[in-house]
Amino acid sequence: MQILDGIKLSKEIKNEIKSLVESYKEQGKRAPHLGAILVGNDGASRTYVDNKIKDCKFVGFESSELILEDTISQEELIAKIQEWNNDANLDGFIVQLPLPKHIDQEAVINAIDPNKDVDGFHPMNFGKMALEMETFLPATPYGIMEMLERYEVPTAGKHTVVIGRSRIVGRPMSILMSKNGNPGNSTVTITHSKTEDLAKYTKEADIVITALGVPEFLKADMVKDGVVIVDVGITRVDDPTSPKGFKLAGDVDFENVKEKASWITPVPGGVGPMTRAMLLKNTLLAYNRNNK
Ligand code: NAP
Repeated sequence: MQILDGIKLSKEIKNEIKSLVESYKEQGKRAPHLGAILVGNDGASRTYVDNKIKDCKFVGFESSELILEDTISQEELIAKIQEWNNDANLDGFIVQLPLPKHIDQEAVINAIDPNKDVDGFHPMNFGKMALEMETFLPATPYGIMEMLERYEVPTAGKHTVVIGRSRIVGRPMSILMSKNGNPGNSTVTITHSKTEDLAKYTKEADIVITALGVPEFLKADMVKDGVVIVDVGITRVDDPTSPKGFKLAGDVDFENVKEKASWITPVPGGVGPMTRAMLLKNTLLAYNRNNK
């Protein structure tokens, strides 16, 4: 069994980006610039945004942060987005999800200029991804593709089972694994909460990608020997022994499943750090498009 080490790999990627940014600056160019909009003060969202800003500092990007009250109206939020759409100094930005219930998430995503949508959530970018055109890929599936590529995990001709069909993980993941390229060329089965006898599919899978958010859902008796496991799930579960009072749990019963796996991602330290690094790669793509 080999670990797909997202911490090690994301550090390598961030160092590559850092060197590139240094070379841009040596050539007298400005640094790439990423923005983040946070609505409200949800603890997890705050941490995600803080980490994104920290990553920008590490690689030498400029960053901007806009923290808005959770009472802001949808119209006011969209007006802020328009301002950032029109800001020539900003290469790309994200609106941290989830948003307060009174705000229509679709309307907000649609308001972002697709050329600045470094989360890759805008329908235009999603469509381009599905058509295998160059675009911003959603960061989590992008990070998994990068991980499979850099660890040289074979995917062509393999049967990949994805559990979960969300717009940010499961569905784009299934599209990317079926694309004509490497990684990709997998035969993909996408499963969800209405799938009957899910284990029937996972038992036959060469690669299982879990993105459902149910701690330790995937058990050892649901997979075959030699399976590749990518665990996207991150759920906070109570842990009185931890200073924070919780720990992060994946969707996979790691201790038992690892005995059968050829490759496996840990949680934490697998997909999460890769997701962070891919947002930087998307920002770099936006910057390079702007500086052609
Ligand atoms: P989501 O929007 O809640 O989607 C969950 C998906 O799982 C849905 O498609 C749902 O099916 C399916 N599902 C739920 N229970 C199931 C069951 N018992 N059997 C089969 N399918 C089931 O979640 P998400 O945003 O995709 O996130 C999934 C997990 O990944 C969460 O733990 C999240 O925190 C984590 N995550 C991690 C990262 C990272 O960087 N590591 C990034 C994003 C998300 P239906 O469609 O039928 O409801």
